[in-house]
Amino acid sequence: MKSDLLKAMEGVKSVAIAGHTRPDGDCIGSVMGLYNYIKDNLKDVEADAYLEAVPGCFDFIPSISDVKHFLPHDKEYDLFVLMDTSDEKRTGVAGELIKTAKELFIVDHHISNSMDVNLGTIEPSSSSTCEVLFGLLPEEKISLNTAVCLFTGIVTDTGCFHHSNTGRETMEIAGKLLDKGVENDVIIDRVFYEMTFTQNKLLGECLKEAKLLDEGLYIYSVASKNLLLRYDAKASDLESVVNQLRVTKGAEVAVFFTEIGEETYKISLRSNGRIDVNAVASLYGGGGHILASGCTVKGIPEKIMEEMTVLFNKQLETCEK
Ligand code: 5GP
Ligand code: MN
Repeated sequence: MKSDLLKAMEGVKSVAIAGHTRPDGDCIGSVMGLYNYIKDNLKDVEADAYLEAVPGCFDFIPSISDVKHFLPHDKEYDLFVLMDTSDEKRTGVAGELIKTAKELFIVDHHISNSMDVNLGTIEPSSSSTCEVLFGLLPEEKISLNTAVCLFTGIVTDTGCFHHSNTGRETMEIAGKLLDKGVENDVIIDRVFYEMTFTQNKLLGECLKEAKLLDEGLYIYSVASKNLLLRYDAKASDLESVVNQLRVTKGAEVAVFFTEIGEETYKISLRSNGRIDVNAVASLYGGGGHILASGCTVKGIPEKIMEEMTVLFNKQLETCEK
């Protein structure tokens, strides 16, 4: 049986594929997974992939150099496939496509969404958008190039098969992708372990400045604009920090602030299981998943932490009752 995505692609001449702002491995993997699938199987369809700046660790993704960073003025696509978000605030450069494309199809796995979820396939129980996408494509038509993209997304969003979103299905799909010839060791090293010297130094700086609150239940750290300037680094160079904060013994939640504008912070939240950080991020206009979410907030980190810890404590009180 044809999936809804395959049906949506029937008869179309042009497809634009895009993901969310600050693209991560799942966003890039799903955008490029479908892009490669179309290139390999649907020769009559003209596909364009749009992404914001792609972090260097993803340079092994097949055809990544085809990615476009700006929308053309005069182009109207038959179909726009939006990957890894159904929140219109996060569509970034691709937002315009929602208005100009003739049809929209969303592939996503986030539980928080502001757009019409009937416009695609959104499976919050899936580990990743790449896992959802795998289910929408005929397995026998998935090439090694597409498999590399999908594996990258699954590895990214499961924290290398470690997060609780990793199910039997996730492992089985990963196995099928290995059968296609994916080199799991190479991808996992590139996506997870490899860090530039600068990224390692920044991690050290941020860990050195970390603070505990409420007797160690919460841990947070702040990266100022100055820090990034000093190292000539980008916010994406700090991605590993929140995960390292989270493994602090005793911590329920880790919060990491990156200053991206005048007193404006991109906040990453990670929970160790008892606290739903999506509920908290949502109150600040953000979202994500129960154990990993984010938001962008104007304010002072210490004050925001004061507010957030009240919200976290309320959740802990409720689950203790
Ligand atoms: P990160 O902290 O790694 O940026 O994001 C963690 C998770 O939360 C990811 O799944 C990401 O897509 C989601 N997320 C991060 N920031 C936002 C935001 O501002 N809004 C929403 N809806 N989701 C976010
Ligand atoms: Mn994702």
